[in-house]
Amino acid sequence: MDIDTIAAIATAPGEAGIGIVRLSGKKAVDIVDKIFQGKKDISLKDREQRKLNYGHIINPEDGKVIDEVLVVYMKAPYTYTTEDIVEINCHGGIIPVRRILEIVLENGARIADPGEFTKRAFMNGRIDLAQAEAVMDLISAKTDSSFDVSLNQLEGSLSQEVRQLRESVLKMLAQIEATIDFPDEDDVEEMAYEKMKEEGNVILQRIDKLLSTVYTGKILKEGLKTIILGKPNVGKSSLMNAILRENRAIVTEIPGTTRDIIEEYVNINGIPLRIVDTAGIRETEDIVEKIGVDRAKALINKGDLAIVVFDASKELTEEDMNIIDLIKDKKSIILLNKTDLEVKTTEEKIKKHIPNKKIINTSMIKGKGLETLEEAIKDMFFKGEVKVTDQIIINNVRHKDLLLKSKKNIEEALASINMGMPIDCIEVDVKECWNNLGEINGDTVGEDIIDRIFSDFCIGK
Ligand code: GDP
Ligand code: ZN
Repeated sequence: MDIDTIAAIATAPGEAGIGIVRLSGKKAVDIVDKIFQGKKDISLKDREQRKLNYGHIINPEDGKVIDEVLVVYMKAPYTYTTEDIVEINCHGGIIPVRRILEIVLENGARIADPGEFTKRAFMNGRIDLAQAEAVMDLISAKTDSSFDVSLNQLEGSLSQEVRQLRESVLKMLAQIEATIDFPDEDDVEEMAYEKMKEEGNVILQRIDKLLSTVYTGKILKEGLKTIILGKPNVGKSSLMNAILRENRAIVTEIPGTTRDIIEEYVNINGIPLRIVDTAGIRETEDIVEKIGVDRAKALINKGDLAIVVFDASKELTEEDMNIIDLIKDKKSIILLNKTDLEVKTTEEKIKKHIPNKKIINTSMIKGKGLETLEEAIKDMFFKGEVKVTDQIIINNVRHKDLLLKSKKNIEEALASINMGMPIDCIEVDVKECWNNLGEINGDTVGEDIIDRIFSDFCIGK
């Protein structure tokens, strides 16, 4: 295994209050001893651990001061990587961190690969692969709830479940061994098949339970892709503004793939909504006219939810009817807005055209109906409370794919058992299941997959 001492800038590039250069490995202390000058002339090893030490980073060649710093030493093995770690806190900004990194490299460290600190934590057995991936998911989380899910996984919730599942798979394998050891005894075989069937069904249920959270995990991670629809002047912009005003926890605002699409994340009762705001919808108002029926349909179908706004103070028009056609088969909520004015279009009238949709009376001017809307969204997608920390939620595509494979393995093993197939047919599938589950936490994973996973990490983590 690689035992170089590695170093990297751990903080984000750009101007900031402080910047951190991090070292991990056997030579970390020696390297920093060469370049750090504190008040006392002693080694970091002889200073108190995990305490900030004030001083300067000096170029040992010419004695020139590079920056004023605070240095902290964390002794192996109770560190992030399980190796000796030294962190140098310097002034933020690109120049100080880069200069310090350079001098650290000149004195014997090697620049870390992306994710190499976390990879070492994994290689040294402090965390498993699913936990390492949770670290990355934490860093890249765009929504509060996705962060919570990953934090839960970092603490080992998924890893533990996978370990238990593998223990059950091992029990099935033990039954297989039993029949191989006593090939001529029919009742041994019969009993083994019965036990395998029982065990297999339990495993299947538990995998299914995990897989049932995939959609939730996707929503929590990516946000519920929401499209606001309605003809001009019904109150779409007012709705958008009200949602933004009421939900200050806007996580991020990202420019979409094309120039005319902007997405904004808002947080509604813990559910991230990714409101897709196309030029065709919010500002130029008439989506159908602007982008054509087919594209409008495609757009709506790609979303998770459509919020449709009608003006209750006016009669329904042909344009409204076109919109109703568009959302007939789509998860959608209808808002009857402007109910503070004299009402011409009632819930009953709308129900005649489209019977099975949730309809909410609102007044954006009076701030009426927003809470009901938020509740409706929650009920529609989560059937009540969204408590992400109480259960394991699968939010990583690699984990999902491996669970699907494991499920297939078990199903095939069960089918073989039911058909009374020879034991080695069953064994192949059960072993595959054992391997696939092991890939989730990294017990049975190849070097290439590990490298690929960590190469997606950011530098310095
Ligand atoms: P959009 O064209 O669908 O985006 O509609 P806007 O949000 O721009 O609103 C159009 C007009 O309707 C504006 O003058 C709003 O002030 C007004 N409006 C929006 N919601 C309500 C409401 O609930 N009641 C009343 N009376 N007027 C509203
Ligand atoms: Zn508008």
